[in-house]
Amino acid sequence: MPGERPSRDALAPDTEYRVVRSETSIDVDGFRKGEPTGEIECLECGRSHMNIDEIPHREDCSQRWAKTDYWRERFLE
Ligand SMILES: [Zn+2]
Repeated sequence: MPGERPSRDALAPDTEYRVVRSETSIDVDGFRKGEPTGEIECLECGRSHMNIDEIPHREDCSQRWAKTDYWRERFLE
């Protein structure tokens, strides 16, 4: 139901993230080309992090406060 949740869900279909894949060979970063590195990138501001809840979004990024249910359960009452 719309309006039920106080903040956006980072894993909801309307948020814009992508899985970062290696663009170099395994010699460079330890990942084969095209293999997911484990990082998630915010398509809005281009910042990335291993943990979707820890992405250092730009201050003007609309997804800055998008958090997963896990994060909210842990840090919000
Ligand atoms: Zn962002």
